[in-house]
Amino acid sequence: MFRLYDTRSRQPEPVGQAHRGELRMYDCGPTVYRYAHVGNLRSYLLSDLIRRAAERRKLQVTVCQNITDVGHLTDDSQSDATGEDKMLAQARTEDRTALEIARYYEDAFRADLAGMNIRPADYSPRASESIELMIDMIAELIDTGHAYATADGSVLFDARSFAGYGELSGNRLGDLQPGHRTGGSVDSSKRFHADWALWKGTSERTELTWQTPWGTGFPGWHTECSAMSLHHLGEHIDIHTGGIDLRFPHHENERAQSNSVAGHEVVRQWVHGEHLLFEGRKMSKSTGNVVLLSDLPGRGLDPLALRLAFLEHRYRQQMNLSWDTLEAADKTLRRWRERVADWARSPSAAMSSRYADAVAAAFDDDLDTPAGLRTLRALERDEAVSPGAKFETFAHLDRLFGLDLARDIGKPVAAPELPDGAADRLEARAKARAASDWPAADRLRDELAAIGVTVTDTPQGQAWTIRAAR
Ligand code: AMP
Ligand code: ZN
Repeated sequence: MFRLYDTRSRQPEPVGQAHRGELRMYDCGPTVYRYAHVGNLRSYLLSDLIRRAAERRKLQVTVCQNITDVGHLTDDSQSDATGEDKMLAQARTEDRTALEIARYYEDAFRADLAGMNIRPADYSPRASESIELMIDMIAELIDTGHAYATADGSVLFDARSFAGYGELSGNRLGDLQPGHRTGGSVDSSKRFHADWALWKGTSERTELTWQTPWGTGFPGWHTECSAMSLHHLGEHIDIHTGGIDLRFPHHENERAQSNSVAGHEVVRQWVHGEHLLFEGRKMSKSTGNVVLLSDLPGRGLDPLALRLAFLEHRYRQQMNLSWDTLEAADKTLRRWRERVADWARSPSAAMSSRYADAVAAAFDDDLDTPAGLRTLRALERDEAVSPGAKFETFAHLDRLFGLDLARDIGKPVAAPELPDGAADRLEARAKARAASDWPAADRLRDELAAIGVTVTDTPQGQAWTIRAAR
């Protein structure tokens, strides 16, 4: 049985399907005003691993992942009433239009996903192109008494209209202090201090604004994920993923919105990935501690070394990454690819179902990828399994791990290098033979043998082989 930890029930739950044979999953995607850092990529990997584990179980997986290119304000984490749009702020910094910024970083995001072997989503709706969906949803929430318009052209969600508020994060409405996220002030247009903006009316901003029945404005950040997920995946979504920081308020508010539209629980399971630290510190632009996938090749590292390093930890554990860890992962990756290429030249044999089943069981157990990798290492060492069977098993399991383990098959094998001092002796020996100095030729042959080079004399001259290093 495939189980994943559910944030709402706070325990692992069997992954179920609202639609027979299908798995519908929604991932909170990037705000495309900057490059994704490796921490972000860890969160996106989570959905890819779920997809692969589900596909192994023959489920047809449909993933929707939004692209936020409007509505995410610079201080959304502290306040839902003020702040500048992240896209517009970055456009000013780079002296480009918001659209140019959005498309540039969206392309970079897609390139990062490809570099990590994370398969693209089936639907990647952009917020700026989904405004109609949001307006329709807001209108419905007003009609059903879950939202209300204010004098400044905004529309707020009435938090008290949704009884289940707080189930996801534990932040019940009664526990939330007025002004807890605004440093004490409460917007006077709010009926209740925890209400939030579905739509933000503006009379000042001119870019990235739209006309609505309530006035000109732009969507609140939480609005898009409800509107897009309901539109593209329907009212029964099996899994919703994101980084742990999104649990509150983003997902709590999103759940309130979506459930209020549908009249029932929309998302069956909420799965959150823990955060990544780099060299012991939080990754943030302000402290200069940001690492990008594109930094790896500059250090001679394969981008998939990052994927392997992530797999060494379960998604639910906080993880501290370092360059040393990445270098070690890179070495392991290269060794596995070489071995797989080597084993592929051996007589073919059926894969080891014992090892394959153990890895599949680890993935099914709430994505226990560290256990999966331990099994892979045990298989690598197991002398009772033939090289042909190892090849088949590694190649098969790579559908789960996604590490391109079969990449080096068929590549020419590099000639082994001569040990130090061998080239000079070979040359000296060729000269000794040409001068018929047999005692010198024999002495050099013995010296070469002592450093691992076996010389034989052929009609074409001397030939040599290098003994494999132990
Ligand atoms: P953002 O672009 O900031 O909205 O974040 C995109 C995704 O990355 C979200 O799912 C976040 O929860 C996640 N995220 C942000 N920082 C980290 C981190 N340090 N480690 C893991 N995931 C993160
Ligand atoms: Zn979202």
